[in-house]
Amino acid sequence: MPDCIFCKIVAREIPAAIVYEDDSSLAFLDARPINPGHTLLIPKAHYKNLYDMPDELLSSFMPIIKMLAIAIKKAVNADGINIGMNNDGAAGQIVMHHHTHIIPRYSNDGYEHWKGKEYTSKEIELETAQKIKSALS
Ligand code: AMP
Ligand code: ZN
Repeated sequence: MPDCIFCKIVAREIPAAIVYEDDSSLAFLDARPINPGHTLLIPKAHYKNLYDMPDELLSSFMPIIKMLAIAIKKAVNADGINIGMNNDGAAGQIVMHHHTHIIPRYSNDGYEHWKGKEYTSKEIELETAQKIKSALS
């Protein structure tokens, strides 16, 4: 994909601090980290986001995410790790080449969990669950 910044990293047209590579995936440090060691795992082939990713490729990613999470936690002496994936602009996806964020966290790093909202009624909660179940079938 000619104008894709992550495709350019795969092609070595722009620099990145690469920490892992295999035939189909690449992991490199996020240039604007939540904390140092914040890493992005991407497929070498261009897929926009989760919805486009072939199941087989996606399945192969979880053991790599686990391996990276353990290595990053150790390397930067983190207290915990967040795994994140933004899909679509509304969910915060800025780079339209699928990527998983592996983010080292510290007990005192100042980031907070998202504040959850309450359902306005039990009916709405059950209705929402029903809509999801229908969309799955
Ligand atoms: P997202 O909001 O999920 O699309 O996140 C995109 C991430 O890519 C951001 O955290 C950026 O800091 C990161 N990023 C963008 N360009 C580069 C680059 N050239 N090298 C490393 N990370 C990048
Ligand atoms: Zn791309």
